Amino acid sequence: MTLEDARRLDAADPLRDYRERFDLPEGVVYLDGNSLGALPKDTPARLEQVVRGEWGNGLIRSWNDADWITLPQRVGAKIAPLIGAEADEVIVCDSVSVNLFKLIGAALNMRPGRKVILSEPGNFPTDLYMIAGLEAQGLAERRLAAPGDLEAALDGDVALLMLTHVHYKAGRTHDMVRLTRAAQDAGALVLWDLSHSGGAVPVDLAACNADFAVGCGYKYLNGGPGAPAYAYVAKRHHAALSQPLTGWMGHAAPFAFTDDYAPAPGASRLLAGTPGILGIAALEVGVDLIAEIGINRLAAKSRALSEFFRKCAAEKLPDLELVSPLDPLARGSQLSFRHTQANAICQALIARGIIGDFRDPDILRFGFAPAYVSFEDVFLAAEGLADIISTRAWDKPEFQQRAAVT
Ligand SMILES: *Cc1c(COP(=O)(O)O)cnc(C)c1O
Repeated sequence: MTLEDARRLDAADPLRDYRERFDLPEGVVYLDGNSLGALPKDTPARLEQVVRGEWGNGLIRSWNDADWITLPQRVGAKIAPLIGAEADEVIVCDSVSVNLFKLIGAALNMRPGRKVILSEPGNFPTDLYMIAGLEAQGLAERRLAAPGDLEAALDGDVALLMLTHVHYKAGRTHDMVRLTRAAQDAGALVLWDLSHSGGAVPVDLAACNADFAVGCGYKYLNGGPGAPAYAYVAKRHHAALSQPLTGWMGHAAPFAFTDDYAPAPGASRLLAGTPGILGIAALEVGVDLIAEIGINRLAAKSRALSEFFRKCAAEKLPDLELVSPLDPLARGSQLSFRHTQANAICQALIARGIIGDFRDPDILRFGFAPAYVSFEDVFLAAEGLADIISTRAWDKPEFQQRAAVT
């Protein structure tokens, strides 16, 4: 693989012009959009308009005049086609963590007599911690089983199977159709965390008959640091859904100011407090851009990028251990490698303007956000990685420290 190969692939890339829609710093190769998506060029102007026009000038009138009050539903409806959902099955609110809590609570309410939440060891920490919180209240019981043992662990005590579609560290995917069916055959509900899928990897919640899902706004959807998340509830559960964070914005009539809670219809009852309008407005710009490109084109480019990186790395670094699956259809939009010096290598790459990330204890992770990463980026990153490993350029004291956020 050569730089010319990369440039030829870029010239033939139908998405090549979308890179210009993002504000990427000069001289940086950004392979961490799976952790924090890049800034769309339209976001600052949109935020300026929301802050100065709608807030500064419109003041409280903007809840009606700028339609702030339905923003969570409107942006949810734009995310829906990316994940195989219908418009009114998705709502934007809170963080992934908080939405997990609400939907685990809802599942427990829908399966009286069952307390077990089944997940896998090594799932994203917050997913496991949110079960722990309900466990401490005596409401849930956590059960973990390795991917190959999940089906055997589905017994009559399991209220909910809760898994992340694309594993954040390894990048491997679960078979959503098969596992959803197995869990439902055992009488359990299923919650999919789509944080590393939405906007890069095709997901069809309708086709796999999922009950619930959550996903992240600040990764492939480019909503900005700490952007609000989204939550999905299948329409068949809309009437019965009862979740534990019964705040006033999830009330059927918040401005009736009654003493008793009555849930809003459908997914809207997942709202708890007042939605953060600035955060959702920024997310909307990112979602509009991703929706404009479309998930099929994004997924095709994502696979081509990760395959190109894998081949470049295999050629230059035949001994480097690939942790992610070889088959691009069996992995998300990332590649992970294992190396005892993963942290120092990652620091040395960042010092050269090549940004990937390190996941404790020994994983080097490269994400390929298909909307703005080029094949040339991928080539330069693989070349930099090979140079740093073969010359031991990582072996310097300044690359040994570990930052607060990795
Ligand atoms: C990024 C990510 C989250 C983020 O959760 P927040 O509460 O929104 O910070 C949750 N789960 C998974 C699998 C993730 O990758």
